[in-house]
Amino acid sequence: MKDVVIIGSGVAGLGLALELSELRPDVKILILSKGQADAGSTALAQGGMAVPVDESDLESHFNDTMRAGRGENNLETVRKFLEALPHAISNLELRGMKFDKLNGIYDRHHEGGHEIPRVLHCKDSTGKHLHQVLLNACREKSNIQIAEHQMAFRLRRHDAIWKIKVIDLKEDVTRSYTTKNLVLASGGIGALFSNTTNDAMSTGDVLVMAMELGIQLKDMDSLQFHPTALKIPHPIGRLPLLTEALRGKGATLLNSNGQRFMYRYDERAELSTRDIISKAIWDEMKSDHLNSVYLDARSINDVSEHFPEVEKMLNEYGFHLKDDLIPVIPAAHYLCGGIPANLSGHTDIQDLYAIGECACTGLHGRNRLASNSLTEAFVMALNTAQSLASSIEVVNLVDETEHQVLPLSHPNETDLKKIDTLRLLLSQQLYQMFSQDKVEIAPEFAFGSLSLDFINELIHEGYLSRSIIELRNLILIGQQIERAFEEYDESHGVSDVSQSAEL
Ligand SMILES: Cc1cc2nc3c(=O)[nH]c(=O)nc-3n(C[C@H](O)[C@H](O)[C@H](O)COP(=O)(O)OP(=O)(O)OC[C@H]3O[C@@H](n4cnc5c(N)ncnc54)[C@H](O)[C@@H]3O)c2cc1C
Repeated sequence: MKDVVIIGSGVAGLGLALELSELRPDVKILILSKGQADAGSTALAQGGMAVPVDESDLESHFNDTMRAGRGENNLETVRKFLEALPHAISNLELRGMKFDKLNGIYDRHHEGGHEIPRVLHCKDSTGKHLHQVLLNACREKSNIQIAEHQMAFRLRRHDAIWKIKVIDLKEDVTRSYTTKNLVLASGGIGALFSNTTNDAMSTGDVLVMAMELGIQLKDMDSLQFHPTALKIPHPIGRLPLLTEALRGKGATLLNSNGQRFMYRYDERAELSTRDIISKAIWDEMKSDHLNSVYLDARSINDVSEHFPEVEKMLNEYGFHLKDDLIPVIPAAHYLCGGIPANLSGHTDIQDLYAIGECACTGLHGRNRLASNSLTEAFVMALNTAQSLASSIEVVNLVDETEHQVLPLSHPNETDLKKIDTLRLLLSQQLYQMFSQDKVEIAPEFAFGSLSLDFINELIHEGYLSRSIIELRNLILIGQQIERAFEEYDESHGVSDVSQSAEL
């Protein structure tokens, strides 16, 4: 049995493990990862980490965060978060993170919703560097173990011990892990949608497990769409992203007539917040009967040098930043809602913590300010490490049930095909719930309950697989989103232009 099990190996999970292993070298930590350790959103992050320029910029960063969140952010959380940032950044730099500098001064990018440039970055692959720094350091610690391809799907607590049931995706068996302290750090839900920027691992498994423990998820309709994902004719998996920093450097959005349209929606135009831009793009697409708009970065000097990873990715699809208009579409990107927790990861259940994107601290309100999430996840990781370090009693118990391994029983071909078809249909409906103006689409989602009967029957008959669990999660999370839409029906996700523009 471990002292701490962390589900997730992104910035939140790795950051916590690393800090805790140093504060308490006697504590045994296990990190479970659904895929390889670098799968998930962290390594995909391009833009960077927003940090106030100096003390005098605190108020402005605060105001930008609140305005993006439509004023529905938790004020105390926003203040505490901003105050924690300088320490978090120096912690990362001491660990080897090297943000780009010009003449010894941070080269800060400008992103949507920010009054001034304040985003620290490593060219356009900040997340990759961040993940490598944390993962390499974790691998050097003798008290941290990382178990890859372990998909958690059920949590139980008995006699103050957590039991985590997983599907071992490599060995095709189920197994269990036990721990005194459990940390959920499993990222977002984007991969449930037909258009997403998220990795295939991001299917909200842990949110459903939290619901089964009686936790009520918060603000599930506050899902952010990134306005500029590359529109690919027949996508398999996630859509590649064109970082917001491109618009910060002057890239514009054009409709089918080659006209800029963002000024009609918000005075900040292409530097408005993501909710407003995504909604504007959907409106333009609808009125033009088009399936994308265009990003024009041709006027940016040395654009390929500033954005080498984006250029490389586009070249694979036959585009060049310097020469081409790039077709873009909004894609499911970031969950502002999730498991209610404070900035130290505490949930309402004892010895259960939630950190990073799966947690909802209220920092982002209805809509996250660009590049405020890698920092939130890392601040939470540091705080939670402090909290656990001061409270953990090392147990040194051996749990025999950890060695029980059971082979999986997969559904037949016909049922597998039905699972795939249902997943596609429901994913498309989930995307439409946000891209349509109204919640009118939602009643159609009711057929989700028929699908749930089918899934429950398979599980009841003893069948289990990743695809069964992910379809079940899609249905249950879809229903939560639908409910949240109804309860807050004027919000329609994070895309109500009229409300946001007034704040
Ligand atoms: C393309 C892209 C670009 C982005 N750019 C930026 C940016 O520039 N700045 C910014 O601040 N934010 C950005 N974000 C958001 C940011 O990257 C994420 O919010 C952040 O990385 C989340 O970190 P995390 O540790 O909570 O989760 P993740 O990094 O997503 O990690 C989740 C982990 O949980 C594991 N997991 C999931 N389910 C299970 C399960 N059932 N069992 C076991 N393990 C599981 C996964 O395998 C993974 O290891 C971007 C996101 C994307 C998708």
